[in-house]
Amino acid sequence: MTSIMWFRRDLRLRDNPALLAAIAAARNDGDGQVIPTFIVDPVLWNAAGAVRRDYLARALGALDRSVGGQLLVKAGDPATILAALARENGATSVHIAADFGPHGRARDEAVDAALGRGVLVRTGSPYAVAPGRVTKGDGTPYRVYTPFYRAWLQHGWRAPAGDIPGDVHWLRPTDHETLPESPGISPIAAMPAGEEAAWHRWDEFRANGLADYSLNRDRPDLAGTSALGHHLKWGEIHPRSLLAELGDKDEVYRKELCWREFYADVLTQRPDTARFSLDRRFDEAMRWSSGEQSDTSFAAWAEGRTGYPFVDAGMRQLRAEGWMHNRVRMVVASFLVKDLHLPWQRGAREFMLWLRDGDLASNSHGWQWAAGSGTDASPFYRVFNPVGQGLKFDPNGEYVRRYVPELAHLVGKSAHEPWEALDGYSHGYARRIVDHKEEREIALADYAAIKRG
Ligand code: FAD
Repeated sequence: MTSIMWFRRDLRLRDNPALLAAIAAARNDGDGQVIPTFIVDPVLWNAAGAVRRDYLARALGALDRSVGGQLLVKAGDPATILAALARENGATSVHIAADFGPHGRARDEAVDAALGRGVLVRTGSPYAVAPGRVTKGDGTPYRVYTPFYRAWLQHGWRAPAGDIPGDVHWLRPTDHETLPESPGISPIAAMPAGEEAAWHRWDEFRANGLADYSLNRDRPDLAGTSALGHHLKWGEIHPRSLLAELGDKDEVYRKELCWREFYADVLTQRPDTARFSLDRRFDEAMRWSSGEQSDTSFAAWAEGRTGYPFVDAGMRQLRAEGWMHNRVRMVVASFLVKDLHLPWQRGAREFMLWLRDGDLASNSHGWQWAAGSGTDASPFYRVFNPVGQGLKFDPNGEYVRRYVPELAHLVGKSAHEPWEALDGYSHGYARRIVDHKEEREIALADYAAIKRG
């Protein structure tokens, strides 16, 4: 018997129920073979920026090595490719972990139809608890995180699935298009990819960072977070594997993993919220800035030239490393929406272009949290002060100096307020493009107007 393992967002061998199912199906007659396959979907590839493309190319390289160089990589329409692959090789089943994103669901339905009934087998998902499983008593979905978290804990999750047997017969029946090539990015943005790298990072964080996570996780000047976002996104490590290693003391980290599950759940229930606000008044009635001025301010934001050091450091970190610290993501998002009066969707697209861990559910809803248009959003009237946030979470100005060289001459926390220093602008740093106090008042007035209806 031959089965096909179609890898998508589960680029690992360990704790991979879909892969175990593919192996079991192939062994029905005792001597089967598994065709490990990845299809580069042009829709997703074209939407990704250089950092995510580079990462995927190297992650596939790592997966290929782990299956003895037998990974079949094709590019194109998955329904056509898989139907032909199954037919030509007499494969009776194609195994996947369920995808809950709007594009993934539609794609899998098309593949299902092309393969014929019962051939596409879904086992597991990229989440500890599959989206849609945690519901309120009356069966409706949660829209507020904290009760979701409680119900998610109560629901619980399976123990990690075992390792694969050591003697799997991998088969690459045809030549593949060569593995997609990395577009070439700066070494600082090229993080180690693959399952081994994911476990290595997790072991390191568990040994040296987890105990202080709750203290350090909000400090962008410290390396206080796990930096596992991209590994989780590509399923090089499964959240269930991480949850199994957490103890009672690690509640804060468990809660962060649950945010990922919550947002996937919300997006599954409301696929439209990938592009539209959960609270539609924000799309329909809010007075957003438009025209040439809005393009100018968007460009200043995106390129880290707003004149607000904490915001600019974040946006420059994003471009330099393909990653930005969570606290700073919240502040730059708030700034775009509430100081520049631009819709969150514009910022979310920019993030998806640059982020290595870019994930539709976490990104769209992270943005809506900051914009105030989403689930249990930080209410719209809570406007982050970009200077106050910097002083609080980067108390010595180190984060700002690291990413904004024009402020490197300012000592300590003074890097957050160049307008207070005699030589604050002596190295060409941009003047503030807006007055935060004034813009805050405008945002609040606009919000009051849509609330009145
Ligand atoms: P850690 O602090 O070590 O957290 C561990 C893991 O928990 C993360 O890897 C992630 O999987 C999950 N997690 C933590 N916080 C959140 C959160 N608020 N929402 C969802 N999951 C979370 N995360 C993405 O994975 N992809 C995105 O595209 C993304 N876009 C965001 C956009 C905005 C505007 C905001 C405010 C947040 C966004 N996040 C996104 C959430 C969060 O910023 C990142 O998950 C985190 O910074 C990744 O770094 P880490 O792995 O070191 O996180």
